[in-house]
Amino acid sequence: MSESKQEMIDRCTEEAIEETKEKAGLQAVKDLLWFIGEDSSREGLLDTPKRFLKAWGEWFKGYTEKPEDILSTCFSEVGGYDELVMLRKIPFESHCEHHIAPIIGHATIAYLPDRGVVGISKLARLLDCYSKRLQVQEKLTAQIADALEEHLKPRAIAVIITAEHHCMTTRGVHKHQSEMITSEMRGLFRDESSARAEIMSLHLGG
Ligand SMILES: [Zn+2]
Repeated sequence: MSESKQEMIDRCTEEAIEETKEKAGLQAVKDLLWFIGEDSSREGLLDTPKRFLKAWGEWFKGYTEKPEDILSTCFSEVGGYDELVMLRKIPFESHCEHHIAPIIGHATIAYLPDRGVVGISKLARLLDCYSKRLQVQEKLTAQIADALEEHLKPRAIAVIITAEHHCMTTRGVHKHQSEMITSEMRGLFRDESSARAEIMSLHLGG
């Protein structure tokens, strides 16, 4: 079927928006290069604005992803398994919303299933969906727990994140290798201190 007039208008509008966005982005990078005292027209920097935008597209691709799509397929045939499901040491990279500096760390995501489980890679994708945005670690931790609660409805949830914030290791107070740990526990993991301690030690363990 050929493209309708409306579809053609929509496509042209979208292309025009993308073109305007790219132009503005390229100029913004050139302005920042000027700000640090560089000459964006020298040979080594000619393609840098383009590469910068491409890198940003990757670092911030979470804005184009929806947690409900990631968690939409739930498997209920698990032979009655209703014990702990945990994925730990999932590496991630994010950026703080205050300095746009890297936050590099790893997360543990765990739950006690009720009506079913999700494919284990979905937990890693859920982490990426939220970490590939501007973040604060506390919010990132809570958002993952909220998405699991809303779309999977398990009996208990634990999300623990350990991360190094480059805005305080490479600038500011310069505290190299200091790590921030945040946790969000729901249901049984929050109510029972022994369960909470066990999850935390599994996260911290080697
Ligand atoms: Zn920061």
